[in-house]
Amino acid sequence: MSGRGRGRGAYFRAKYGGGGSRGRGGFRDDGYAASQSDQPSGPPTGATRDWKQLTDDLKSIDGQQYGAYKRLYGKYEHTGPSFTLSVDHVQGDAFASPSRVRAIMPWPQTGFPNDFLQSDIRRIALCDFVTRICASVIRSKHMDQGPNAGGGGGGWSGPKGGAFNINAPGQEVLPRTSAMISSGGETIELRFTTSLPAAGRTVLGQQAWQILAVNLVELVQQSLLHSNVDQAKLRRHVVSVENQSSLRAQLAPANLIAFVANGAILPRASGASAAPMDPKTAIRFQSPPDLEVSLQLADGSSVTGMGVRRGITLMTGGGFHGKSTLLEAIQLGIYNHIPGDGRELIATDPTAVKIRAEDGRAVSSVDISPFIRNLPGGRNTKNFTTDDASGSTSMAANIQEALEAGCKTLLIDEDSSATNLLVRDARMQALIRNEPITPLVAKARALYAQYTVSTIIVIGGLGDWLSVADQVISMEGYSPHAITADAKAVVEQYPSAIPEDKEYGSLPMRSMQVSLSGLRSPFAMRKTFISLKPQARNPVDDPSEAEAGIDLSGIDQLVEVGQSRTVATLLERVAGKTAANASPLDALLQTLSGSLNVDQCLPTTLAHGDLVGVRRQELAAALSRMRGISITA
Ligand code: ADP
Ligand code: MG
Repeated sequence: MSGRGRGRGAYFRAKYGGGGSRGRGGFRDDGYAASQSDQPSGPPTGATRDWKQLTDDLKSIDGQQYGAYKRLYGKYEHTGPSFTLSVDHVQGDAFASPSRVRAIMPWPQTGFPNDFLQSDIRRIALCDFVTRICASVIRSKHMDQGPNAGGGGGGWSGPKGGAFNINAPGQEVLPRTSAMISSGGETIELRFTTSLPAAGRTVLGQQAWQILAVNLVELVQQSLLHSNVDQAKLRRHVVSVENQSSLRAQLAPANLIAFVANGAILPRASGASAAPMDPKTAIRFQSPPDLEVSLQLADGSSVTGMGVRRGITLMTGGGFHGKSTLLEAIQLGIYNHIPGDGRELIATDPTAVKIRAEDGRAVSSVDISPFIRNLPGGRNTKNFTTDDASGSTSMAANIQEALEAGCKTLLIDEDSSATNLLVRDARMQALIRNEPITPLVAKARALYAQYTVSTIIVIGGLGDWLSVADQVISMEGYSPHAITADAKAVVEQYPSAIPEDKEYGSLPMRSMQVSLSGLRSPFAMRKTFISLKPQARNPVDDPSEAEAGIDLSGIDQLVEVGQSRTVATLLERVAGKTAANASPLDALLQTLSGSLNVDQCLPTTLAHGDLVGVRRQELAAALSRMRGISITA
């Protein structure tokens, strides 16, 4: 390798300079160790340097051993526009999880209107917007792909890294650490990851310069300067998000648990896409006249649509008529959406939890006795623990855990439920005498009467539910109709044989102790799974090489992988806080409220840019699914 360092800049400029290449490089962007996050990474930061020094530093380390990148730690001041590049983490080698840098700009330099600082929700909306600009520039200019993308010779001595990224948002506007405004409103910052480029084990200074001194500056200019952004679009984004929040806040005073605006587009482009269905094909939502309500938005306008009242609401109709699509839109009505999503003016009780059957999940010390008693072998259902729950026991546990985490609205779809937990008809009651299950249909009314917990349930085939419903909505060709009166007439004619329970039973109140001892930090790898790596004390004969894990795939209201990362990060904090003694789930979640950010748990004190806000309900759900958690019920 020696002797190749000199002149490398010119060589690589010729070979790789200019725009990026297509295709996916070898860049590993899933590496994420929450454990690194709490400590400020790397050596103490150097003094603040001027911008020219960045070029000099990169020149001086070009061709050196990879570790020479550590010289970049610290801050560089850019002028015109003025911002600070802060190099917070420098990866140890080209294959390690990527380096982290921030661009911090004084607020007055941005030119953004000061009213965007006025409330948390406006700040969140603005930060979400600038993150989206960055993500789209990065994509369109292929900055997210290293020079080696396209597969050409990624061998030992070929160039590695070079990819540059920001945590890209989906359809929801959420608090995120990719862009943040300081609490006093003095600065706004962008947080990027980059895998610093190398050839073999040596620094590619020229390419690093392209990333940090060219690409990054361009991103800052395009996204943080008000004069460069689409100002009307930004204003629409902020106003829309604020309207959505205000709409959600009006539900409770209006005695509603959900609202779906007329004109909303509910269906998605495909089962694999969260983007809206083409408005030319989709049938827009139109409320039945009986259920229509008008609500006032933050910008002074008003919106009309279907109000779902507290109590028990049935959504029924023929197969393929849009029932599940409506429920899915409602379950994501806990979040604000980007303008153009089609679901902007669908708002749901912010505590609502989608409940489903999740057989195979781990359950720890949950009181499922309202639904299930007398299991075979005399198992205690007041304190039910299993490594492998059945459909009905998992669903009972999901309901009880949701209530424990403060849920006031259950959202249920027959399609993803255990039928025997929803209902048991007269014939089955006659045939099976020692059935341990009391179905939800017998409990739903008591649940509302005793604990004011509402239920919205999608039912196509289980008519017993008609007799407990306060409102019945039928979907016909994607249009809702209010058919409560018809349903009541049917119930008169065919009364249900299921006896109603007057008492719901008790809500669970667990105390938990989260111990991560024996495990390495949670590693959030995917949206649907947090893996917990066992600490290999004796790697040779350690039988537990298999990863423990928390399966999040049953939690339908998680929408971004950044939310799973937040869960993993918070888990570690909880683990630290409760090492000595167990605390009730509620207190445990309270412990984290120091990092609560507008109803969303989000640790904002870390330098990571890829965390996304998550509700306490999802955090609790993840905790509850952790295998081997210690719980005193
Ligand atoms: P159900 O639960 O009643 O069986 P789904 O909600 O699964 O029906 O919807 C069936 C199909 O109809 C889905 O492919 C969905 O994308 C489509 N769909 C749902 N709502 C609409 C709508 N408003 N306009 C057009 N297509 C829709
Ligand atoms: Mg369905």
